[in-house]
Amino acid sequence: MALTAMGRHLTTAALVGALVGVPNGAFAQTIHEVVISNESDYDVYELFVSPSEEMDWGPNQLGNDILTAGDGYVFDMEAGQWDFRFIDDEQNACVVSGLSVSEASEFTLTNDLLETCVGAGTDSVGGPGDGGFPVVFERAAGFEVMAEGLENDGVFQMLTAEVSDTLVLPDGLQTVFTACGMPNAFYDPSTLRITMCYEFFDLFAEAVSTPEMDSAQIREAIIGSGVFFYLHELGHALRHVLDLPVTGREEDAVDDLAAITLVGDDEAEGWLLGAMMSFAGLARSVEEGNIQLPFWDEHSLDAQRMYTVACVLYGSDPERHAGFVGENGLPEQRAARCPAEFEQKSSAWGRLLEPHLR
Ligand SMILES: [Zn+2]
Repeated sequence: MALTAMGRHLTTAALVGALVGVPNGAFAQTIHEVVISNESDYDVYELFVSPSEEMDWGPNQLGNDILTAGDGYVFDMEAGQWDFRFIDDEQNACVVSGLSVSEASEFTLTNDLLETCVGAGTDSVGGPGDGGFPVVFERAAGFEVMAEGLENDGVFQMLTAEVSDTLVLPDGLQTVFTACGMPNAFYDPSTLRITMCYEFFDLFAEAVSTPEMDSAQIREAIIGSGVFFYLHELGHALRHVLDLPVTGREEDAVDDLAAITLVGDDEAEGWLLGAMMSFAGLARSVEEGNIQLPFWDEHSLDAQRMYTVACVLYGSDPERHAGFVGENGLPEQRAARCPAEFEQKSSAWGRLLEPHLR
């Protein structure tokens, strides 16, 4: 796998190391006092916690308080693995995952942590070269609810935090969610910025929705599609900033990166299924004559992209994903080649990124 264990519930070793206190075994349901010391220059306006297994943020732990720079905050938590989400006055969110609470613990918030997390405290999206991985969810007219929903979900902040924890990049990368007037996502090399258009998420919603799905499943498929296309754009960005060689179509190569990154983790594979549903939905629109087949396009056709993703997923673990092969899935002829295809792609991306790992 090219990027290590990218997913929503990740252990960020460096951050876990910031927890002071020696774990003394698992005491499930035991309540411990946790101290958050804010040694950063940023004020924290909201603090949410979620069990790492559940992604259920619950209420703001600070209530009406503000955890100002230089101050500390004490609260009680059950023993276990927790994700923390810090929000500053600009509504920048920073998610720190997989913190283990097994006895009274102290956690220190530093500038480094917040700045590498999502660039909390930056006034706006800066120019190239100012480092960090800020993610901005613009409150574009007509998309306020979507902006808030995506921001609160926290998944894109998690992904960028994981990328900056995993790779050394010469400059920061910025991600902006905004309204573009068209369903798209793109990377701009002149500003080192990934733009994710809210209209793209509307298109995913159309593509993935079927009458059998409940709203939670539809939502997960939309988020999954967004994650896949975000990683696709990230692939373009890495290709550019790391000056990686590409033979063949870059569009296919970065689809591979997105798929490779998401295999091996249950939740992330769920997102990959969401992306496959989007490709399938778009391919259906072509069949129904709503979209012209764009043979001139630099991307492979949606149906091909779907089968290629399915092949990566199946090839990563043929036993576990045996259900993908058959009449409504991967034909045997392709499936037989998928384990080798997966090996080839993941080792190629692994070798390209290896010199840039932290
Ligand atoms: Zn692309």
